[in-house]
Order: sequence, then C-alpha cells, then structure tokens
Amino acid sequence: MSKLSPMMEQYKNIKQNHQDHILFFRLGDFYEMFFDDATLCSKELELALTGRDCGSTTKAPMCGVPHHSCESYIARLVKKGYKVAICEQTTLPGESKGIVEREVVRVITPGTVIENSILEDEKNNYIASVFFMKSQVALTFSDISTGEVTIIKSDESQYINQLSRFAPSEVLIDENLATNKILVEYVKNKLNASITTSDFNSASNEEMAEVIEKQFNKSLEELGLEKDNVLVKSLWAFLKYLQITQQKGLERISVINFSDGEQFMQIGNTARVNLELLETIQNREKKGSLLWVLDKTSTPMGKRLLRKYIEQPLINPVHIEKRLNTVEELVNNFPLRSEIIEDLAPIQDIERLLTRVVYGSTTPRELITLGFIFNNIPNLKNTLSKGKTKLLTETYEKIDSLDDVGKYIFSAIQEDPPATIKDGNFIQAGFNAEVDRLRDIITNGKAMLHAQSEKLKEDTGIKNLKISYNKIFGYYIEVTKSYLDLVPDYFIRRQTLANCERYITDELKELESEILNANDKILVAEKQLFEEVRVNVAKELERIQSTANYIAVLDVITSFAQISFTNNYVKPVVNSSDRIDIKDGRHPVVEKLVSDFFVPNNSVLDRNNQMISIITGPNMAGKSTYMRQIALITIMAQIGCFVPASYAEIGIVDKVFTRVGASDDLASGKSTFMVEMSEVADILKFATKKSLLILDELGRGTSTFDGMSIAKSVIEYIGKKIKCKTVFATHYHELVAMEDQMDCIKNYNIAVKKKDDSIVFLRKIVAGGTDDSYGIDVANLAGVPKDVVKRAKEILVELENGSGNLVQTPKLIAENTEISFSSFNENEIIEEIRNIDINTLTPIEAMNILYKVHKKIEG
Ligand code: ADP
Repeated sequence: MSKLSPMMEQYKNIKQNHQDHILFFRLGDFYEMFFDDATLCSKELELALTGRDCGSTTKAPMCGVPHHSCESYIARLVKKGYKVAICEQTTLPGESKGIVEREVVRVITPGTVIENSILEDEKNNYIASVFFMKSQVALTFSDISTGEVTIIKSDESQYINQLSRFAPSEVLIDENLATNKILVEYVKNKLNASITTSDFNSASNEEMAEVIEKQFNKSLEELGLEKDNVLVKSLWAFLKYLQITQQKGLERISVINFSDGEQFMQIGNTARVNLELLETIQNREKKGSLLWVLDKTSTPMGKRLLRKYIEQPLINPVHIEKRLNTVEELVNNFPLRSEIIEDLAPIQDIERLLTRVVYGSTTPRELITLGFIFNNIPNLKNTLSKGKTKLLTETYEKIDSLDDVGKYIFSAIQEDPPATIKDGNFIQAGFNAEVDRLRDIITNGKAMLHAQSEKLKEDTGIKNLKISYNKIFGYYIEVTKSYLDLVPDYFIRRQTLANCERYITDELKELESEILNANDKILVAEKQLFEEVRVNVAKELERIQSTANYIAVLDVITSFAQISFTNNYVKPVVNSSDRIDIKDGRHPVVEKLVSDFFVPNNSVLDRNNQMISIITGPNMAGKSTYMRQIALITIMAQIGCFVPASYAEIGIVDKVFTRVGASDDLASGKSTFMVEMSEVADILKFATKKSLLILDELGRGTSTFDGMSIAKSVIEYIGKKIKCKTVFATHYHELVAMEDQMDCIKNYNIAVKKKDDSIVFLRKIVAGGTDDSYGIDVANLAGVPKDVVKRAKEILVELENGSGNLVQTPKLIAENTEISFSSFNENEIIEEIRNIDINTLTPIEAMNILYKVHKKIEG
C-alpha cells in the first residue's frame, strides 16, 4: 500500500484512540467522517457518501457536515446511542510546521450530553456507573447537564430498581460485568441505554482517593466514603470517564448526594409503572399520568424536580408538613400565588445554561439569557418577602438575587447578541476601551483618514494634500509639484510621478495598520473578553446553582398549590399512625378523564381489623381505579401535595407495592404467571408492617384451585406475618369467606344494579362481598353475540347445579413411572458411557463411541 497523505496519517493516529466513537474530524468549515464512520453516518444521517484522495490507491469513503450546524447531526447520532468524538483544529493554518494540529476536545455520549437540542427540558439525563463487589452493588448516577451526583449502595436484589428509577441513557460498567446477562439485557432492552465498559480496578486505592478528593475538595473521610471501597470504585470510574469525555468544566460537579433509601418511601419498579406515576403504561405518555395532573410548574428545574418528588415521597411527617403548610398558604393566598407564578414565568433553565458556561461551550446569547433571568430574581425575592410559612421565609432568605452577576453580564454583552462568537460584535459598548476604539476605527476609518489629512493640511499649509490608497503602498499622502517646498522632514517619500510626489508618515502607517487590522483584532479581543466574562460567571457556580435549587422547590410547591386549588383537593393529615382514612376519595387522573361524574369513595385501612380489604365486583366496576386511588392519594400526601378527597388521614407508608394485571416479560424469558409469582415473591420478601400493598387479582395465570390456594395463602401470610395495610381485589368469591376466619379482613364490593336483563355500574364501594361475577352481563354489555350470551347462561346454570362436564382434573401419573420420550434406552447408553476409561481413550475411539451413541439415539 502506498503511503498515506500526512493529513490521513494524522486522522488514523487520532482514530486509533477512538475506536468506539464516530470521529468528527474538523477540516476548515466542515467536520468530515472517513472510512467506516463515513459509511455509517451517510446511512444514519442521510448524507452523500463521497471519496477523498488519501495518498493510497483507493479513495477513502468520506462524508461531512458543516461545523455551524453540526449539533443537530450529533443529536441524531447520540439519540441513536452512538458516541461522537469531536476533533478540532488546535492551530491556525500556517501557525505550525506542516499541517494544522488537531486533537479530540470532547466526546459526546448519550450520558454526557450538555447540548440543549439533545436534552429534554423536563427530564434529567443520567449516566450511571455500576460496580459489583460480592453481593454489594454501588451505583453512581449523575446528570452532567445539571451537575447532580447521587451515589447509592444497593444489593443484587434491588439495584435494577434503582436503575429503573433513574433510567440512565448510558451505563458505565466494569469490564467483568459485560457477561452479566441480567444487567446487560436490562440496560439494553428495558432502558434502551448504551453500555460503556471500563476497567474499574485500573488504579490503586490511593490514586482513586486522590481523584475523588480533588474533585470534591474534601477528604474521603469528610465525604463519608473512607472505608467504602465499592462506592469509591463506582464514583472514581465515573469521574475518570468524565475526564476522558469532557476534558474541561469538571468543576461543575461539586456536591455528592447520598441516597440511602431510608429518607424516602420506596416505590418498586412495578408499582411505579402500574400506578402510572410519570407516564401511562399503554402509550408511555405523560398525559394520563399522575405527573400530568400535578405539573403546573413554570421552570425546567421545577419540572425535573417534580419527577423526583413523585418518585421519592418523604417519610418524615415533619418534612411533609413543612411542604403542606406552604401549599396551604399558597392555596389560601391567591395574590401571593399569582405573583410567584408571574415571577417564575421568565425563569429559564438556569442549571443547564450554567453548565454550558462552566464547560466553556456557552454562547453570547445564552449568557445574556442568564442575565435576563438574573434580572428577574430580585422581583421574585421581593414577592417571597410576603410569605409566612417556613419554606417561603427560608427560600426568601437563601435565594440569591444575583443582581451583581446580572448587571455584570449586561455590562459585558450586548442585549441582542449573535448566536455564536465566531463573527464577534457582542461585547457591550463601554465594557472595554480597546474594543470601543477598534469598533470606532471600523466604523469611522474614513472619517479618521479625513481628519488626518485635514490636520496635515493645517500643519504644513499644503492646501491640496490628499490621502489615497493603493495596493502597493497602502495609504499614502499625495503632494503636487507646486507645494513640494512645503513638505516637512517627517514625510517619507515613496514615489515620484510626473506632477506629484507620494509620501507616507509614521502616523499614517499606524492608522493604516489599525484600519486594516481592526476587524481581525476586534474578533480576537471580543473572544478573549468573552472567555474572561465566562470564567467570571462560572466562578459564581455555587451561588447560581443554589439559587436554581431553591427556585425548583418553590416552583414545585407553587404547582401543588395551584392544582390543589383548581382541583378542589384538601390538606391531608399526615402522621406516624398506622391508619389510612380517606373520605370521598377520588382518583386524581381518572376524574380528569371520565366524561361522567366521578363517584367518590371512602377507604379505611389500619393494622387491626381493617388491615386487609378484599374487594370483589364485576369487571369494569371500578376496582382497579379504587385501589390505585388509595395508593396515589397516599403518595400525593407524602410528597406534600393536597389530595383529591374531602378528608384524608395518612399514616406514613414506607413502601408501596402493587401487583396489577398481567404482563409477559418475554425478553427475560418469563411467562405471565412467572412474572406474577416473582412479583409476589418480592412483595412478601420486602414488605414491612408500614407498607401498603395493592394486589389486583392474584393467581389468575394458573388453574382455579391452584390460583385460589395461592391467593388465600398469600392473604394469610400478609395478615399473620407482615401485618401491613393491603387492598386485594379478586374474582375468587370463595375468598370472601376469609372475613369470618381472620379478624383483620374486611370485605367490600363495588356496587352494581341489576336492571332488566342488564347491569348498571354504581361505582360505589360498599361493605360485604359479592357472590356473582356478572361476567356474562359484562360480556353482553361489550356486545358479544346474543346467542353466545344465552348459551353461556345455560352452561352457568348447569355448572352451578353440578351437572356440567367442563372441568376435568388432569390425572397425575404414578411417581415411579418411567417416561420414555423415544425408542432408545437411555439407561443403556448411560451405562456404556460410564464404562469408558477416559484416561486411555484415543481420539479415534472417542469418535467411534460418539458415532455409536448417536446412531442409537437416532434409532
Ligand atoms: P375494574 O378494575 O373493576 O375492571 P376499572 O377500575 O378499570 O374497573 O374501571 C373501569 C372504568 O370505570 C374506568 O376506566 C373509569 O372510566 C370508570 N370508573 C371507575 N371508577 C369510577 C368512579 N369512581 N367514578 C366514575 N367512573 C369510574
């Protein structure tokens, strides 16, 4: 192969270190991709594939995108899970010997994005770093775009739950974990996230400690990580990956949150999905979820925090009360609520704008946006001074009006600057004398030349002196022959023509160089100043981030107040009792979606004789809605929101579990019944006396007797061992009899009214069980042909009279029966294999035996 061109040689060397990345290689105004990257990008981005001479005999496949519009192309690749390495020219043409120097300045991966066009305002974008040590699992979650880092220690049974809660878009795992099928398949198939492997053991403990301590400016001990090897490894691997991909701006990550799970209600993966907290099960849409009802937030920070609040209800009544009191104040104080909402409206994504400032990728327009936001904070602070409850007074005190930073940005950047820094013209007049002067030269160059020629005329008395320009001399002074005797000494002659002489002066040359270089100079000066302003704003990181945090909380609480007011919710009584007592409870989402009047219902649960409610009633009666509404009201109360009821007492719940509906998990090879039973197993293992269980149908995936036995046994276990509040809907009317067997059980049913040949759903929960499924009536309502309905009724009568012949119990075969699946005798073959002396067996003999065995099996 002939030698590669120097540029392609440079490309190959750089690509060598970025095998897993698509290399965007800067060539002038374009990013070019070569070879396999080019083929892939031309397909994924629908770009024309061309070729480039690279010194070799064949052309290198190539495609490219303009550098000024690269973000949308990168966004498309990253959304598809690719990682893109951005390789920039680091010297100007002619500045270095040979070709311009280039290096990778950033790697953009799904979990390390900070570009607005790729990120969703409402959602955090997490990267996770997962490390296993014995049965312990350490997880670091970080949203680089907001600077958040949370570390969690879990165990093998729970870590998937954490992954599901944070739903990272990229998961960094130790090389050893690449063969962990459960983890890898979950990340790929369920989270749709990309996996990056790394060696989590490639540094010594001391080296790891050094990296972490430097990042957070605290010792491992101060961070509470001293002896925690497993957490240290996960955190270190994340920081190392960040260094590789981001190169700068790492100071954005400055605080670690520890999530020990103890401070929050635990909502398992299944419950989160089933209760449709953040999205609906069917379409995975926000509309129809609890989030959809609760979200009247104004700011992106508020929107992201609301998701966290919903997923992490509190368990400390004092903390809940603090939120509830402020919601109450804002519900009752309409003027204050409206003023806060008005003041929050212009506040955009401070957190992510700040990140781009710190990482050095901000633009003048983004900086001025921050300036505009900061200009509004004093108003907000002023409004908050009218608040009375703790959360408002605290926010008033802690929120930083940032007016100095706002003023500084406005003094430095023009109000309507261009989107990028490349063409300059964004530094505010009066901010820097040199920029003002250069700008003056650019706009007044001609006038300055004119002024100089006027001055020269006056100084020398040469009346017709004029200043002109040509390519050879640049600016020059022309004096006609008749005035030559007036030419002073400091005129330097450059040319003699027939009737005139041409001169230059030092002053004129200075002015010339200023006029000619002003455009270049001002560009450099503006860029330098921009960097200076950026660094100065970045220095205020902590003040700005802390203010963003307070604004987020305020936004969520105000949203709670707003929806509590419009939806007619009440303040719940939250305490440490074991009681849930809801009067006239409504389902917050269904009440918004049903066209009919939503029928409110009462619910009482405790740990005495109301511990387990068994709910019966026909399909479509409203059982699921009723059960979920208890869980949702409990969650709403514990996140500090008012609830849809006329009264509610909520004794703190530590965990909510649900077992609802049927879902196959074929991806992990589990049948519906297996999924159901695994969920039941988890619930029985992890529920405590403080938990709330919502069990909608249990044991339906197997035969009636099997299913009923499991259901009954589960209820007994809950009632006798776990002793926690449980709502249990069932079609097994036989379970209704359990009310008489266990004091802690109460039967309820959702009333229906028989009307002529049909039924009417009353949606009202009443005490007592039902003994009729009304299944045939529901089939009738659903439009099943009349003949089928009629015949079903006849069969039902036959069955109830015991004359039906439908159910046949499968016969069990005797325990010692030998089952032969084919004609060969297994025992004989096993005996033969057992008799082989493996130590003396030659390969040819082994082949012969294998042949004989195979022949016997084949018959
Ligand atoms: P089930 O679980 O008994 O089959 P669902 O809870 O799914 O029944 O309820 C069926 C439908 O009935 C819901 O989609 C909703 O439209 C309506 N519904 C349920 N509860 C109520 C209620 N309390 N008031 C009004 N409509 C209700």
